Amino acid sequence: MSLTEIDLHQQLKKYFGFSQFKGLQEQVITSIVKGKDTFVVMPTGGGKSLCYQLPALIADGTAIVVSPLIALMKNQVDAIRGISSQHGVAHVLNSSLNKTEVRQVKEDISNGITKLLYVAPESLTKEDYVEFLRGQTISFLAIDEAHCISEWGHDFRPEYRNLRHIIKRIGDNIPIIALTATATPKVQEDILKNLGITDAKTFKASFNRPNLYYEVRPKTKNVDADIIRFVKQNEGKSGIIYCLSRKKVEELAQTLQVNGISAVPYHAGLEAKTRSRHQDMFLMEDIDVVVATIAFGMGIDKPDVRFVIHHDIPKSIESYYQETGRAGRDGGEGHCLAFYSYKDIEKLEKFMSGKPVAEQEIGHALLQEIVAYAETSISRRKFILHYFGEEFDQETGEGAAMDDNMRYPKSHVEAKDEVAL
Ligand code: ADP
Ligand code: MG
Repeated sequence: MSLTEIDLHQQLKKYFGFSQFKGLQEQVITSIVKGKDTFVVMPTGGGKSLCYQLPALIADGTAIVVSPLIALMKNQVDAIRGISSQHGVAHVLNSSLNKTEVRQVKEDISNGITKLLYVAPESLTKEDYVEFLRGQTISFLAIDEAHCISEWGHDFRPEYRNLRHIIKRIGDNIPIIALTATATPKVQEDILKNLGITDAKTFKASFNRPNLYYEVRPKTKNVDADIIRFVKQNEGKSGIIYCLSRKKVEELAQTLQVNGISAVPYHAGLEAKTRSRHQDMFLMEDIDVVVATIAFGMGIDKPDVRFVIHHDIPKSIESYYQETGRAGRDGGEGHCLAFYSYKDIEKLEKFMSGKPVAEQEIGHALLQEIVAYAETSISRRKFILHYFGEEFDQETGEGAAMDDNMRYPKSHVEAKDEVAL
């Protein structure tokens, strides 16, 4: 495949109907088409999927896409089938397939029809699959949600650790593209080290979300009343309220309902049917508020979520960023309000006490960072972006005034207090 022969814009239009690339997409795709190991760090919604889908569609052979969630894979395969009339152009290979189906997938790959093969990392540990793929033309291997490789990430999956070894067995010179929305330098280092990539072309987009307003309030025993007041002030708007425990989710959802707010609970302890009904109600705007544990969110793309409230502070800045990132996807208002009490940090520390020491140490370090975030008096946006290794000018940067510390500087209040003493 030679770049001079390919007009990427034309291919973009042909397959996806878009007339322009988003952000760094074109540079990323060019790098992949040239066969380079490529590392893509882009916030959620940045358009990472297209970075590997388009080159896969125009390359010879099959691109293997490693993805952690069956639901995410299915969505993508359906979407690809929607844009290509040819059956078999995208497949999922996983344990839910029967023998006939597996044979069909293999046949399509052998015949060069399949352009994208989605696999869960645990499927790649199957000897039979690895043996089969060894003999095929593989255009490249994409690792989506690559932060799952790192214990410092917010979603560590041990199966991701073996990928390097397996890729080597499938082929010696297969280009690798790793993609993640996790911006911490630590996780990024881990990903490249783990995959054994030494000279990746790296593309990193800014993680600044200038339309989000960040606020932290002290958590008192009146926190539920504070939340009710906030939600009532934002009547009719969509919002998510995160709580640490399922019990609190249930309680708070009920308290909101009693107070005339249309809210439903969402957590992994609910029946699958109830969960998906509640999710649909939120997406269809039959209700305004979802009270949820972190089980709610991955893959949810409601563009007009106007607020994300944290009843309990999450276990890392990374988690906080991902969870608040679900607000204001459409570029409109997004209020991110966290209630903070040091007691909750002690609770989180206690949860970890049964875990292996190394894990506890990581957990502790991450918690210290979220404490620093909650207690800081500098620009919260600057704090978050600094955590992600990004420079931000708190006076002139985009979204500079969009947090409580910048709008209502604490130092003045404290200074006055001191004088009064
Ligand atoms: P990510 O994986 O980075 O979170 P996705 O790949 O899910 O992001 O893409 C987010 C949205 O952006 C999708 O709805 C996708 O269709 C859209 N998108 C991607 N690339 C483009 C583009 N070049 N022009 C317009 N929309 C795009
Ligand atoms: Mg994605």
